[in-house]
Amino acid sequence: KANKKLQILEINKIAANYFFWELGEQSGEIALTYLKKRGLSDEVIRRFGLGFAPKDGRKLYRYLKEKGYSDGLLMESGLFSADERNGAYCKFWNRVMFPIMDANSRVIGFGGRVMGEGEPKYLNSPETLLFDKSRNLYGLNYARKSKAGYLIVCEGYMDVIALQKAGFTGAVASLGTAFTSGQASLLRRYVDQVYLTYDSDDAGTRAALRALPIIKEAGISGKIIRMDPYKDPDELINKEGAEGFQKRIDEAENGFMYSLKVLMREYDMDSPEGKTKYMNAVAERLTTFEEEIERNNYIEAVAKAYHVEYEDLKQLVKKAALRLG
Ligand code: ATP
Ligand code: MN
Ligand code: MN
Ligand code: MN
Repeated sequence: KANKKLQILEINKIAANYFFWELGEQSGEIALTYLKKRGLSDEVIRRFGLGFAPKDGRKLYRYLKEKGYSDGLLMESGLFSADERNGAYCKFWNRVMFPIMDANSRVIGFGGRVMGEGEPKYLNSPETLLFDKSRNLYGLNYARKSKAGYLIVCEGYMDVIALQKAGFTGAVASLGTAFTSGQASLLRRYVDQVYLTYDSDDAGTRAALRALPIIKEAGISGKIIRMDPYKDPDELINKEGAEGFQKRIDEAENGFMYSLKVLMREYDMDSPEGKTKYMNAVAERLTTFEEEIERNNYIEAVAKAYHVEYEDLKQLVKKAALRLG
């Protein structure tokens, strides 16, 4: 079995080199143009080993067969599918390829993106002997060497690349899956401070709030960086540059303050009634801090952030506590 793992590693490495080579071919030009249009230089493309899976999915299969790998092993690599009509073929075709590397820069899987519109937007390798999604983070092979003292967790390949390129060397991605405790312990090996910067849509907001307790559980202090009005870090960096993202880091919020912002969406903040209802809901949440010092610290922080008087808010919290019994 150990031997099998090594062989799959070999297959992945050959495949990654092959996809990279295809990017330089005539037929790979559309992929190269796509990557350039998204702002990636030759140097960045080489650093992340990006590539192109051509339309003909039989090509990689034949190439690996010539090298002597068995059908059984090729299927176990997760790169291939087979059906009666076509035989075995690479399941990634006509896609831009992102090799997924473990912390030691060994290729353990792949992600492939359609160029332009199409479904699914991303296709990822299935779990294999090597690839356990819940225990890996994209970009960690570089991020672990970051001198920043913190790591940044985002959603996707393009976010990691954009962040690292802009100098935020500690960027990693949980790759669309829910953040796991296995990923948290991986982070804990390197840092005790993490910034979460998920997409600003509902799915990303929820994912960030769910990840926070998992991070805390692992003994890491976590804060949330908001991306709105942009979709994600890649878009923010393209629009505002590294300074824009640094500003967001400086304004990062802890989970409680962030959840109050999220709560705002449920109220009509343009009307006085809506605002009052919202502040009462905030006061109710403030009652959940049982330690008086901690509660007062939060009352102070909220009062400052929402431009209300500390004493007024304190009264509101007292009333909320009575109301809730
Ligand atoms: P892009 O900027 O290229 O459009 P993105 O990274 O912003 O991509 P999202 O839709 O936000 O794309 O997805 C974030 C990450 O989630 C992706 O990088 C990918 O790892 C994963 N992902 C997205 N869609 C799928 C899918 N259909 N199947 C599996 N994983 C996916
Ligand atoms: Mn997303
Ligand atoms: Mn995104
Ligand atoms: Mn994006």
